[in-house]
Amino acid sequence: MRGALVGPRVLLRRLREAMAEPGDAQKRLDRIVILIAANMVAEVCSIYVMRGDVDLELAATEGLNPEAVHLTRLKVGEGLVGQIAAKAESLSLIDAQSHPAYAYRPETGEEIYHSFLGVPILRGGHTLGVLVVQNRARRDYSEEEVEALQTTAMVLAELIAASDVTASGSGLERGARRPNRQLHGIALGGGVGLGHAVLHEPRVIVSNLIAEDVSVELSRLNEAIGNLRAWTDQVLLRGDVARTGEHRDVLEAYRMFAYDRGWANRMREAIGTGLTAEAAVERVQNDNRARMIRQTDPYMRERLHDLDDLSNRLLRVLAGHMATAAGADLPDDAIVIARNMGPAELLDYDAAKLRGLVLEEGGPSSHVAIVARAIGIATVGQISEILDDVETGDAIIVDGDAGEIHLRPAPDVSDAYVDKVRFHAEQQARYRSERDLPATTLDGQDVTLLMNAGLLVDLPHLDEAGAAGIGLYRTELQFMVAAQFPRIEEQRQLYASVIKAANGKPVVFRSLDVGGDKVLPYLRHSHEENPALGWRAIRMALDRPGLFRPQIRALLRAAAGLELRVMFPMITAVEEFDAAKALVEKELAFLATHGHKPPAGIKLGAMIEVPAILWDLEALLERVDFVSIGSNDLLQFLWASDRGNARMAERYDPLSPPILRMFRDIAVRAGAAGTPLTLCGEMAGRPTDAMVLLGLGIRSISMAPPSIGPVKAMLRKLDIGKLQDEVLGDLNNEPVNMRQAVEKFAAGHNIPI
Ligand code: PEP
Ligand code: MG
Repeated sequence: MRGALVGPRVLLRRLREAMAEPGDAQKRLDRIVILIAANMVAEVCSIYVMRGDVDLELAATEGLNPEAVHLTRLKVGEGLVGQIAAKAESLSLIDAQSHPAYAYRPETGEEIYHSFLGVPILRGGHTLGVLVVQNRARRDYSEEEVEALQTTAMVLAELIAASDVTASGSGLERGARRPNRQLHGIALGGGVGLGHAVLHEPRVIVSNLIAEDVSVELSRLNEAIGNLRAWTDQVLLRGDVARTGEHRDVLEAYRMFAYDRGWANRMREAIGTGLTAEAAVERVQNDNRARMIRQTDPYMRERLHDLDDLSNRLLRVLAGHMATAAGADLPDDAIVIARNMGPAELLDYDAAKLRGLVLEEGGPSSHVAIVARAIGIATVGQISEILDDVETGDAIIVDGDAGEIHLRPAPDVSDAYVDKVRFHAEQQARYRSERDLPATTLDGQDVTLLMNAGLLVDLPHLDEAGAAGIGLYRTELQFMVAAQFPRIEEQRQLYASVIKAANGKPVVFRSLDVGGDKVLPYLRHSHEENPALGWRAIRMALDRPGLFRPQIRALLRAAAGLELRVMFPMITAVEEFDAAKALVEKELAFLATHGHKPPAGIKLGAMIEVPAILWDLEALLERVDFVSIGSNDLLQFLWASDRGNARMAERYDPLSPPILRMFRDIAVRAGAAGTPLTLCGEMAGRPTDAMVLLGLGIRSISMAPPSIGPVKAMLRKLDIGKLQDEVLGDLNNEPVNMRQAVEKFAAGHNIPI
């Protein structure tokens, strides 16, 4: 190598010796700059270290004026050194002074040096400083020299990270306390959680950097890459997508990178410069992170993010730490941070210790979000790239109502949230004390408050929340968390345990509502342009009796000798209800011929969630035993507005006169037919919306368990007659701002909403 006295491996060994010598960090740094300068045949070697977030300070030098040490400072972005830190990118110049960013510092005496090579000192995605060599002569540093200096910088990063300003007295510090940050994402519910960060996939801290035996390190790396490739093949081929929570395109990207020869070769080359396999992975990962910082194209950034994830996984393979944090010793106030995860992985955690969940991805209808809400933990999604900034043990506040998090919060923010949590707890205690009071309005109208459920973890809420029964049991949730299609006997046992837990209270099982966005990993499903409008729910059930009939059989057997209620999702035409009912009757006949005891009674219902059925409502009402409005879907189809799209979430108001006229119309027609009516969409759980639904004549609503307390508190202070007289009287008038009007009514009558 031109200019270098010895190979990089020898330099690393000498650096290790220098780092192990007694003395404080400053003395070690002083020796290290001499060593690097000699090895690189450079007249100057300098180390700049980050101070706080914005300043770089000259911490040691060989060749520049020693008086400038701890005096010369540059801002990140300022001068050549500042640019290297800002971009986390190496810079090699034949004539530094002609570079537009060159910032002259007279105290250093550097004007006589022309060529310049600087590399960032990176660790765990953070820039800790910059390492520079300079030569008088105008020369071009070779690629090998750049590589060697980068490897050296990595070893230096360890020394800087381990040094402490107070212990060394050297003025070195790892950067000031990392700043607090407020990050916005989307609210996935569960209230507020205060606690400490736990990384779902724990990071490996690489402490052994310098290889004893390069060939051993190479074979360790090769074996780990083989292991990684096998893993990507397996998740894709076995279709474990739902379990890992990752989207298929992310897994495809993982596989592409795992097989990428360029990536593997770069890591092998890094071992060749004297690093251990772990350090080589991290070296290449640092370069990748630097590219990520510079990348402005969102798609490319996303892919670099995938590669970063994969590098973390490779480190975990090398370290033999494959388990997620679920099996580790958790703090009592764990806030789990993940890029994404499957619902089953969340269920692996000890729920008693979970205070919150933060996901880089994760939409409101993602399966893990549904499970998080069921467990009742504060959850926020779409906090992009939080994993680059958070460390295990960081204090963190998750506001699942506002959709934001506070990382390393300032004391006044924490205090405000402690008050908020206390207030919330007091409110919950008040709701609990009202649990056994009747759900009756001031003007004596009885209301049926039911809860929505779908997992066994939901069932204890039935009594805790004081629900009158389960108005919607989403059977597909259990199918979504399973690794394979649940057998009839498994399904029977599950439904029987739900009925048992309900202890005589009614349970409405909804038959499988899969397809669209609710994907079963083990069920082949062809690509659809518009999955929400596609082959889903009852459409799929009727086309595939092989799926539907076992579920019906399991339900009938689970309710032997008891009452069974089943409703069918997405009924678009009455013939679909007839066909589903005929299948139930067929199953009943089958059970009779096989000596099984039938249910004592069967009630079959339909969901009203496709607008077309409203124009054939009487025909439906006379066929069914009950109906339930699925307002989530009904509104998305009425408004042609995707219910999962955050940009659309506040665009249209369910409390607008045309929608209210529709709900009133359904209530009147169901009443005339004598068919029981419930509404089980999300709006039932919002006290203001629920108040209006009662005003329109609906008397049975089903909601997530935490909403029952607030809705009951509202209705016990409500006079429905007054609401109708004062606000809802004539919905046919000019459009009014109905939300404002009902909020004013609530405020004027002391109704808590
Ligand atoms: C609805 O659509 O309102 C409903 C309750 O069903 P889901 O949210 O499961 O689609
Ligand atoms: Mg629906």
